[in-house]
Amino acid sequence: MVTGLEVRDLSVRYPGTPPIVAVDGVDLAVDKGEILGLLGPSGSGKSSLLAAIVGIVPLASGSVLWDGEDVTQTPVHERGFGLVFQDGQLFPHRTVAGNIAFGLEMQGLDRGDREERVGDALALVGLEGYGPRRIDELSGGERQRVALARSLAPRPRLMLLDEPLSSLDRDLRDRLAIELRDILVSTGSTAIVVTHDHDEAGMICSRIVQMSHGRLALG
Ligand code: ADP
Ligand code: MG
Repeated sequence: MVTGLEVRDLSVRYPGTPPIVAVDGVDLAVDKGEILGLLGPSGSGKSSLLAAIVGIVPLASGSVLWDGEDVTQTPVHERGFGLVFQDGQLFPHRTVAGNIAFGLEMQGLDRGDREERVGDALALVGLEGYGPRRIDELSGGERQRVALARSLAPRPRLMLLDEPLSSLDRDLRDRLAIELRDILVSTGSTAIVVTHDHDEAGMICSRIVQMSHGRLALG
């Protein structure tokens, strides 16, 4: 049995004539504690693969397993997988703390536990004291840290990060890449990090695979 994530023969198709095959029969295993880099050109199917694993895009075929258990039919919020988007996708009308607390509310944690977890998550991403701030008062880098904190706070068993740094300028990106690696390692996270930057993948990841036309090749 594979421990951690296993993806078997996963395909994603979008409607069209003919249908668009975004992911084409992907097999992939990610061990616990492994930080896998998923590289590939724009349009190669990276986002679609992550979205299918997390459960927000339907599978045309295949299955997703965690520790050998098939979670293909498990609702998104019961999979224990966290997703970070390129542009963070924070809730603009919630404070920083409110954003981070969101997943914890979904888990049914009481207020005291939520506040403690929010504080821990903010400390983890170097934003102590930012809880009451409004999202529109934050820089791009701070927003991505909040997005990361929001995904980490529910302690997901798998983190999926879709080009988490690509909206940032070069200097900040390099700094945050090192921080991101340290955060993922220190939390013992199992993760897939999508990027189209080979250097960035090298800084963050313990193994790299390449995606092309919906299929995987060793990178
Ligand atoms: P990547 O993240 O590697 O850039 P995507 O997974 O976004 O790749 O896209 C893979 C293919 O699927 C592309 O051809 C893209 O145009 C297509 N695609 C992605 N999302 C949709 C969608 N919602 N509807 C139709 N086609 C889509
Ligand atoms: Mg993408």
